[in-house]
Amino acid sequence: MPAVSICNANGCENQAKLECPTCVKQSIAGSLFCSQDCFKKSWGAHKALHSRPDDLHIVIKGSSYDPYPNFKYTGPLRPVYPLSPTRQVPEHIPRPDYAKDGTPVSELAEKGESNIKVLTAEEIETMRKACKVTREVLEIGAAAIRPGVTTDEIDEIVHKATIERNAYPSPLNYWNYPKSCCTSVNEVICHGIPDKRPLQEGDIVNLDVSCYFEGFHGDTNATYVVGKVDEAGQKLIDAARECLEMAIAQAKPGVPYRRFGRIIEEHATKLGFTTVRAFCGHGINTLFHPAPSVPHYANNKAIGVLKPGHCFTIEPMICEGTHKEVLWPDNWTATTTDGLRSAQFEHTLLVTETGIEILT
Ligand SMILES: [Zn+2]
Ligand SMILES: [Zn+2]
Repeated sequence: MPAVSICNANGCENQAKLECPTCVKQSIAGSLFCSQDCFKKSWGAHKALHSRPDDLHIVIKGSSYDPYPNFKYTGPLRPVYPLSPTRQVPEHIPRPDYAKDGTPVSELAEKGESNIKVLTAEEIETMRKACKVTREVLEIGAAAIRPGVTTDEIDEIVHKATIERNAYPSPLNYWNYPKSCCTSVNEVICHGIPDKRPLQEGDIVNLDVSCYFEGFHGDTNATYVVGKVDEAGQKLIDAARECLEMAIAQAKPGVPYRRFGRIIEEHATKLGFTTVRAFCGHGINTLFHPAPSVPHYANNKAIGVLKPGHCFTIEPMICEGTHKEVLWPDNWTATTTDGLRSAQFEHTLLVTETGIEILT
């Protein structure tokens, strides 16, 4: 335990002296407040932590803990550690260069490069296969989403489905990322690390799956509801999906990559939502995140024009409140600074002679 804990209430920096009695009973660590006032003020968001006893047996049995008890979380979500041991990939499966030591050397070599790779017909065929595998794995992982399942269990399912298809889970060890997919719950914008927290009725969760197959990466994600979600949550999810669909509808050869941001921001704004600026879509091929960068906001300065043979992603992250993000101390998990929710959808796209093919 830390020497000093800070009040969980939004905007309060006081030392915490009270612990939520319901959380104590349910063995949820870190629910600390400075006063009854702050506890009451935070109740609306805080009570989301109190799940049904069925959902908590994993937390209790596993003697789980919050690895960053001094961190000022922006919403009710907490990491539930320890993480499971690193999952292994069989030797016979081809892997990207970073699989060994975490550094994507070939991607780094192209840093600053604005030239966008044009794939040959043969490369496009393999890219199609990689994206088909990625889609299948996303759907298998998504089918397991329900109250009580931990995001680590989803990760295990995704990992197994990936290696069963002779593919390598692209996120695993990319810049030392510890898991095989990203699971971003509620206020997490992206890059949530699968852990021991059971999904709870009413959560929204984005599952982001990427597979490296025969030398090419596929990348896709979607946001799902856990059980039944409130109307506002469903509207947010619908908005994020529509933003992606509307951007794809305008994609064809000759269109500049900077155009998608305006389409996305206009639609999000019209519905009363915001669009994240810190994370962008990206090129994708033999490298996981090469050129171009594809921002999801208006008036961006993205370089490049769509040409047949380009592969790239669009992946808008749409927020209920602020679009601003803060990273957890794990250096991956990005949450909104106001603790309100964020939803995302992503496809890998191929530019054809006449338009676009959705590969995932
Ligand atoms: Zn992705
Ligand atoms: Zn992506």
